[in-house]
Amino acid sequence: MALNNLREVGDIRAVRFMLQDRITAVQAKIAEAAHKAGRQPEEITLVAVTKTWPPEVLLAAYAAGLRHFGENRTNELTEKRPFLEAQLGAEAGITWHAIGTLQSRQADGVADCADVFHALDRLKIAQKLAGRLAVNGRSLPVFLEVNVSGEASKAGFACMQWETDSQQKKGLLTAVQAMSQLPGLRLQGLMTMAPWEATEKEIRQVFRRTRLLVEWLRTELPHVPLHQLSMGMTDDFPLAIEEGATHVRVGRALFGVRTP
Ligand SMILES: *Cc1c(COP(=O)(O)O)cnc(C)c1O
Repeated sequence: MALNNLREVGDIRAVRFMLQDRITAVQAKIAEAAHKAGRQPEEITLVAVTKTWPPEVLLAAYAAGLRHFGENRTNELTEKRPFLEAQLGAEAGITWHAIGTLQSRQADGVADCADVFHALDRLKIAQKLAGRLAVNGRSLPVFLEVNVSGEASKAGFACMQWETDSQQKKGLLTAVQAMSQLPGLRLQGLMTMAPWEATEKEIRQVFRRTRLLVEWLRTELPHVPLHQLSMGMTDDFPLAIEEGATHVRVGRALFGVRTP
């Protein structure tokens, strides 16, 4: 059942019970994929992607046990966070993830409101974030977004041929080095998106190459703690976990299809 008609469903309790079944199913898949790869399910953070859903759905998701919420638009983040804090208190234990790429004018909202940022795709945004973080005294864990698949529609540092292209390697290395020196930003690792129309084999390859890329960065820059991989969505999160994802960003498998 799609969740679009929350108001018809009636109340938060009904939505919560629907969500509980879906959360259980997603968590079972996470555990299965982790065990397949010889990993522990606890190593993986489920980021529930709540974009487009009204804040009441987030309240239901909270009641159902979810604690990590992901938004790809800054204005949704800056509206929903205060709403939930007004209802649940600021100490409700929610971690807010900004998962979409930013225009520079949106950097302030993310620096003020996000607890984690997954889609840092250029130095200019990093500088903007750092400037604002210095003003408000916050620090922000960030993932660098990398475009490993080479799809033109994808944001992120160009890494489609990183294994053989020394320019791509150098470009990423220089950016990571510069970002690691910006106060307030705490580099966590890499984020990537699978290609849209691709076979399972191709998708797996993109995730694997992203893991190898973060491993290479660690050997080049041992002083920068890059240990996390944000990859995998509704259609491919088990594959991503088998290939090393530490954060999966899942929307539709939990909340149903989004209608604009
Ligand atoms: C929407 C979105 C997701 C979740 O997608 P689903 O297919 O609904 O799981 C993950 N990451 C980003 C960056 C998104 O914009």
